[in-house]
Amino acid sequence: MGTIIEEAQEGKVPPAVKAAAEREGLDPQALLQYIAHGSATVMVGGKRAVGIGRGFSAKVNVNIGISTVRSDLAAEVRKAAVAERYGADTLTDLSMGGNIREIRGAILRGTALPLTTVPIYQAVVDAGGIDYLDADIILDTLRRQAEEGVSSFVLHMTDEKTLEALRRSQRVLGVVSKGGSITAGYMLHTGCKNPFLEHFDEVMEIARKHEIVISLGNTMRGGSIVDGGDAAAAVERRQNIEIADRCHQHGVQVIVEGCGGHVRIDRIPLCVRLYKDASPYPLFVAGPLATDRAVGHDDIAGAVGASVAVSAGADYLCAITPAEHIGLPTEEEVKQGLIAFRIAAHIGDTVRRGSDDADAALSACRAELDWKGQIEQAIDPERLTALVPDSGPCSMCGDYCAIKIMREYLSRGD
Ligand code: SF4
Repeated sequence: MGTIIEEAQEGKVPPAVKAAAEREGLDPQALLQYIAHGSATVMVGGKRAVGIGRGFSAKVNVNIGISTVRSDLAAEVRKAAVAERYGADTLTDLSMGGNIREIRGAILRGTALPLTTVPIYQAVVDAGGIDYLDADIILDTLRRQAEEGVSSFVLHMTDEKTLEALRRSQRVLGVVSKGGSITAGYMLHTGCKNPFLEHFDEVMEIARKHEIVISLGNTMRGGSIVDGGDAAAAVERRQNIEIADRCHQHGVQVIVEGCGGHVRIDRIPLCVRLYKDASPYPLFVAGPLATDRAVGHDDIAGAVGASVAVSAGADYLCAITPAEHIGLPTEEEVKQGLIAFRIAAHIGDTVRRGSDDADAALSACRAELDWKGQIEQAIDPERLTALVPDSGPCSMCGDYCAIKIMREYLSRGD
């Protein structure tokens, strides 16, 4: 049996494509060409298939996972449940502490959402540090995680050319990608090539066998709005697009990560278009944070940048919580970041998909002071339910509700 891409190329509708399309009320047959071409992917979890890219709505990922400092398996499982409840499309487990396999198993059992990992995280922990990593440990980690039911791998394809460009750059913050820096650290310590490129055929074999979506990491994202868009970022963009082509030729679904981190707001559309005009693949963006100064409120700075990124064509967002740059988020902070990014994805989609029907539907309810209808149309119905009156004007203007006044006075002329 072929992979999802190969089946689509033969004109067959794979069950996962059908399921992902039906979740969004789309025609699977119409999406087939995008899957075949690589401009859309379907990430298949144990219980849910999620469409990402052309034809599908913009999606939001939530990061969870134990760090080496804070280790509470139950709390991370609760965060996964919160993310699913409040509308996350996918989860990424970034665990680097505790029993990584155990937490992943608990998350996989406790959620219907597709789960992504950054396998180099577990590989470096299992090896006992960057200096002890080797290619066998890395490939073995990929194999084991795939067998456990992970849906997607983030692989950082940093190579010598990218590192050379980085050495010449004048960045304030250098590299802020953990997976990218571990991969680069391994290369610099051992003198070996990038492990995922050196063993590309084996990586492809694992991905094909388990229908893993490869997400090409954004090692060279800026950690400050003055850092992005330099030569190192340009080398990585070209490199990731070339590797995405190779994945696609192997029948492996691929997503390119780019324009993430911190990006000045006027540069976001330009950055997105550099990717989207050069390749068909779905673009995954972490943030981007439109300012470095919103520490403690980075969900807001990220959502502002993300709405611009999706408007320009980005397909998939990684939610940023208010705890970004500070610590592991709480359940409440996971929820806040997710809701902010779901709003950003929707704002972006009104442009990306050229439709304001959903907004018009809410406004029609607002015009009728129909609170129940507004709750049904709202991105966060739970919050609205707690705040609004059962009927009539709200407490903002009370008896002088503009909607009520105009309706009454206009009808007097009838
Ligand atoms: S009372 Fe004011 S804010 Fe509330 S529904 Fe009427 S016009 Fe809108």
